[in-house]
Amino acid sequence: MESFYLKELITAVKGKFLIGDPKLSVKNISIDSRTVKKGEVFFAIKGENYDGHNFIGEAVSRGASAIVCSQYDIGLVKPFPSFPAVVKVDDTVIALGDLAKAYRKRFKDIKIVGITGSNGKTTTKEILSSILNTQGKTVSNKGNFNNRIGLPLSILNLTSDVKYGVFELGTSVKGEIKILSDILCPDIAIITNIGCSHLETFVNPEGVYEEKKALLDAIAGWSFAVVNKDDEYLKNAVAAGGAKIISFAIANNADVTAKNISLRSGGQLFELHYGKGFVYVNMPSKGKFNVLNALGASAAALGLGCSLEDVKKGIENFKAPAMRMETIVTKRGVTLINDAYNANPSSVRESINAVLEAYPSSEINLVLGDMLELGENSALYHKELGKFISDKKIKSVYLAGEMSFYTKESAGKKVVFYCGKSSDLFAALKKSGANKKSVFLFKGSRGMKLENTYKKFFEFL
Ligand code: ATP
Ligand code: MG
Repeated sequence: MESFYLKELITAVKGKFLIGDPKLSVKNISIDSRTVKKGEVFFAIKGENYDGHNFIGEAVSRGASAIVCSQYDIGLVKPFPSFPAVVKVDDTVIALGDLAKAYRKRFKDIKIVGITGSNGKTTTKEILSSILNTQGKTVSNKGNFNNRIGLPLSILNLTSDVKYGVFELGTSVKGEIKILSDILCPDIAIITNIGCSHLETFVNPEGVYEEKKALLDAIAGWSFAVVNKDDEYLKNAVAAGGAKIISFAIANNADVTAKNISLRSGGQLFELHYGKGFVYVNMPSKGKFNVLNALGASAAALGLGCSLEDVKKGIENFKAPAMRMETIVTKRGVTLINDAYNANPSSVRESINAVLEAYPSSEINLVLGDMLELGENSALYHKELGKFISDKKIKSVYLAGEMSFYTKESAGKKVVFYCGKSSDLFAALKKSGANKKSVFLFKGSRGMKLENTYKKFFEFL
């Protein structure tokens, strides 16, 4: 982050100045009192488990040069000899967003890409960053920092030597994509797909589309949006001010497409077509959905002027983020696939299809946890998943979670084990008779923590 005057911060966050010198030059923001470094600005944020206001004293003792808070008790900082500057705001999360928005406006020459969608945001972000990094310094969210705290903190990493910013925007609350888009002011928007994500809030895919399309409304008029033409909710999407659309697809005609997709050990080979040209791409990830993610990233990169050769290099060098189709072969030759980063009805199906396709002559076993946050139709979605599984060439299914009971009801005899808590899965897996022909796919929502079972099983094998 580049330095700015406290005065600028106060204007940006519409804060009230309580103590300190407004001419103070500050740099770097922290929301974690345990890691605050000397001279940083500490934002006291109230989270689910902790309230940053209780740690103002610690932040000051570690050398914070300014505090942004919504409640201020002088007793909290009084014992410290070097009194920091204190700015009071109504809401520190909103203030963090306002600061990031003002900071982003400093960098008119950086091309900023915003990515949203139900699935594949992080993967698309990583692929696009890998491509754009061949052209110039690129900053993106760390990991999955895509919410009202993570996105602003990520934006604050921009500096003058950066050429591109690539940021994912996540949502679980109505109106959040609009708020995040307003903070980011993206030049270019990508929507990966519209699926059954966070239905507790958005009710159905139409609701998900309504939420996500705020990103298309936010882009600058000169620029372009990237959408998935294979997605029924996106195929007719329009962007703000009639901005240009660059589309991508596998099954339908689009500006950027993939042809002749074939399996390669650990990945896939395909032809990536754009206009009259094409390149062969050897992508180090499984699953057609990852080819779609690569196409979305490529469409943005091509629109920004990258060549097909740059795109190829970027995709081939990209490293899949952890817990997304992460594959390992154990000492005993058993293949374990950890795709347990998250799960919703569309991503579970895509994941199962990807494994069936990648291992046509193996025995496929599924270890599935609940898909959470699906709202009132959750039982129905789990039942449909069971039905989907019952029609596939799958050897056995291990299920955990309250809702997975409904998957069990419709998946039939393939279900060899069902339990309420994922911690009970391991005992059953130990008796699975796993061998060199076996492939185990682990998939469930984040809250189900299937990665723990995956780790234990790996150690056992
Ligand atoms: P989150 O909402 O948690 O931030 P995300 O949208 O960033 O998720 P990724 O982290 O890229 O998505 O991928 C998570 C999982 O979603 C993958 O493990 C995979 O199973 C599935 N997935 C990824 N891309 C797609 C896609 N294009 N279509 C369907 N499923 C996908
Ligand atoms: Mg993500």
